[in-house]
Amino acid sequence: MASAEAIPVAPPNEYYEIRAIPGKGYGCFAVKPIERGTRILADDPLIIVPIAYYMNCDIQQAFDKLSAHEQKLYFSLHSGHGQDPKLWPSRISDQVPEHEKARIIEQHTARTGKDASLISIFQTNCMEKDKGAAVFPHAARFNHCCNPNACFTWNSAIQKETIHAMTDIQPDEQITLSYCDMTHERKLRSWELRHYGFVCDCRACTGDEEDETTFANQSAERRFRLEELERETKNLRGKYLLQGAQDPNFAKKLLEMAALHQQEGDWTARLANVFLDIALVCEVHGDVEMAVVAGAKAVQVKRDCQGADFPDYSKYVDVLRRLKTKLSQKKA
Ligand SMILES: [Zn+2]
Repeated sequence: MASAEAIPVAPPNEYYEIRAIPGKGYGCFAVKPIERGTRILADDPLIIVPIAYYMNCDIQQAFDKLSAHEQKLYFSLHSGHGQDPKLWPSRISDQVPEHEKARIIEQHTARTGKDASLISIFQTNCMEKDKGAAVFPHAARFNHCCNPNACFTWNSAIQKETIHAMTDIQPDEQITLSYCDMTHERKLRSWELRHYGFVCDCRACTGDEEDETTFANQSAERRFRLEELERETKNLRGKYLLQGAQDPNFAKKLLEMAALHQQEGDWTARLANVFLDIALVCEVHGDVEMAVVAGAKAVQVKRDCQGADFPDYSKYVDVLRRLKTKLSQKKA
């Protein structure tokens, strides 16, 4: 997405180019078949604000350090300003502390203002980076879809934002990312996306959720069930996994989660983590064969969505190696 005056250009790469979409700005389109797991982009931050609750002055400080060329690039990015003030709450509760009030007013003013500003561009394009946020000039050009074909991650090992293909992508297909949590329901997604200044028109958002034959209905059912399962298993996973393994329905719930994530096309690190937990639970139950199958899935999904250079990828590889050793000992 970009402002009217400059036609954006992708960095030199073999996978995609930026094309105009009539009435909708720009998008990134595949120029050849892209296999799942391909790293489409590794982007350097243009501007970093190392805190989550930033003010305009924090962005200004970072912006002032940029070269004239970089500042121009920053202002060529899309801005979600000019929104209808009626879309946003007009009152701030008295309970909100003064400094937070000032922050909310700044953001509100930027969103509803007539012109693009430092803060409106930051709000529209920033991605999480460590404990703060950053704008990645090329990653920011990828449009949103609630069922995207690619995903993005901050990779601290290489200090770059990466974009990986989550599915096989065909030539001329638009490459999309989800700006919001894929398990969220339509109403919440549309609220989250309003922060970026647009209304999503993907098939999950525009289809009739009441009509059981539509994708929108099936997607809504899956997201609802996933949220339910997330809640039910939250305190049984990760460091509580041994406890979870004692619950007779736990493994079944994890398998259902893995199936739902895949059906929804959510081949992200979250799915890798579900597979890892399935592997570990199978190990606890003595089913090492199944543990190896799930462990291999975990490694594959993890590598496909984040890359083998991602900081905690080795943890997945180590678990799989351990399980494989156990299996060969068992067979011997
Ligand atoms: Zn959507």
